[in-house]
Amino acid sequence: MSKKIVIVGSGNAALSAGIASLEKGAEVTIYEKANKILAGGNTKYTAGAMRFSYENGDQLIGLLDNPNDERIKNTNFGSYTQENFKNDLLNFNDGRPLSWEQEILVSKSLETIQWLSSHNVKFEPIYSRQSFLKEGKHIFWGGLTLASENEGVGLFNQELTAFLSLGGKIFYESPVTDLVFKNNKVRGVYLGVEKIEADAIILASGGFEANEELRKTFIGDDWIKAKVRGTPHNTGDGLKMALEIGAVKHGLYDGCHATPMDLFMKDFGGLDLEPKERKNYRKICYFLGIMVNAKGKRFLDEGKNFRNYTYAQYGRKVLEQPGHFAWQIFDSKVFDLLYEEYRFNDAHFVEGKSIDELISKMDDIDKNEAKKTIAEYNKAVDLKTVFDPTVLDGKSTRNLLIKKSNWAQRIDEGPFRAFPVTGGITFTYGGLKINENGSVLDTNNKPISGLYACGELVGGVFFNGYPGGSGLTSGAVFGRMAGYGANQ
Ligand SMILES: Cc1cc2nc3c(=O)[nH]c(=O)nc-3n(C[C@H](O)[C@H](O)[C@H](O)COP(=O)(O)OP(=O)(O)OC[C@H]3O[C@@H](n4cnc5c(N)ncnc54)[C@H](O)[C@@H]3O)c2cc1C
Repeated sequence: MSKKIVIVGSGNAALSAGIASLEKGAEVTIYEKANKILAGGNTKYTAGAMRFSYENGDQLIGLLDNPNDERIKNTNFGSYTQENFKNDLLNFNDGRPLSWEQEILVSKSLETIQWLSSHNVKFEPIYSRQSFLKEGKHIFWGGLTLASENEGVGLFNQELTAFLSLGGKIFYESPVTDLVFKNNKVRGVYLGVEKIEADAIILASGGFEANEELRKTFIGDDWIKAKVRGTPHNTGDGLKMALEIGAVKHGLYDGCHATPMDLFMKDFGGLDLEPKERKNYRKICYFLGIMVNAKGKRFLDEGKNFRNYTYAQYGRKVLEQPGHFAWQIFDSKVFDLLYEEYRFNDAHFVEGKSIDELISKMDDIDKNEAKKTIAEYNKAVDLKTVFDPTVLDGKSTRNLLIKKSNWAQRIDEGPFRAFPVTGGITFTYGGLKINENGSVLDTNNKPISGLYACGELVGGVFFNGYPGGSGLTSGAVFGRMAGYGANQ
């Protein structure tokens, strides 16, 4: 007899778990808290970028929606080995060795993307943000090369199509409120007073980023103020339910992914906006200029590394500044290089023909100090090294308290623009502990019978940041694992 499996949530992790369970012949039902528009959780808000290891560009061609794209002949995808992926993760581990979860993420990344592709999920190269044109060739940098067709919404739609075509069922506006836990086994879920029985429950209900109280408790007081980049529905429900029946906490509860965002963005991301406008609030081109806080001071190395490797931590740094904001400052030399989100109609910025005029328009900042900071920065820039955004060009500042390590150009060609930013939380890193079947472990490290987890609510995958595109891959890897595990 086929197993009856209930999945909580309908993002990438849930749908990956659902597809895997259906492959094994289970009867699968998804209960989703949100309505049809907001179903798909944070997954739908993403650019669909997925990081995975590959040896060469040939391994990518079969995954593409349009392998005949004219640009492909002229593209160098490079390679991104498992070693590269591991090293990238290690850079964010603050000295910790790779966790078990990270080893799994890396070793199963390529096969999981190929598996999604076998279920008709199509991908496309991220020419606009992950490659630069150099001597007529598209050069990919940073190991992140593909995104699902039509970004996160496309990923959700394609995965949902696969799930439904294999016989899965989904119910919207159906928040799971509790687990049915009896005689040491999870036997179903409650939707309010309604009880649904099942052989296995897979929690895929995201982290606690949209829950002010939990943010304050686990991450700190500053985080009450944080804007939420994605869904309002990831309020830690699955996490709380599992902890209540004895699951062990795992991973970095005070850690989270947070990104510089337009200071005037709404409190949550808006799926009601057109796809292009949806990401207009993100502001991650700080590496092309400088950031100053309310005191008029720089507070981090804007050019420390490719922005893939800094953007997930720099939101936190901005949020921790006085008043929880900063200004990003650029001169006209780099306007063409700024991502399109800096040019959307409702991107907030001020402009001045001179530095003085610019600073006069920047609110809530120590203007004298800001002027001094820009002058000192300009004086410290190494003028000999050639600016090259396709590599870590080493064009840095000399003798500044806070160095800019790469892409340091003088801010000296008007007009000048300054964009006010704050920190927006993307998702949280603390979660549940699972084993190789995706089973949730209790405080004695023993599986809780009938309970599985995947996606954002798995702890131990990320610590002090992550290389961009790892979140979706993690959801698919651990989703597929839980889907298979729940059928054993
Ligand atoms: C703006 C933005 C951009 C991003 N860009 C990228 C990117 O390009 N690449 C990348 O790798 N990662 C990206 N991420 C991170 C990525 O979104 C997450 O890592 C991933 O989508 C999480 O998937 P998930 O399935 O675990 O959670 P989600 O996709 O968030 O799904 C969780 C679902 O559970 C539902 N739910 C919650 N509580 C309940 C309940 N009680 N009952 C029923 N349902 C419930 C929610 O409504 C939601 O639909 C981005 C995130 C954001 C916010």
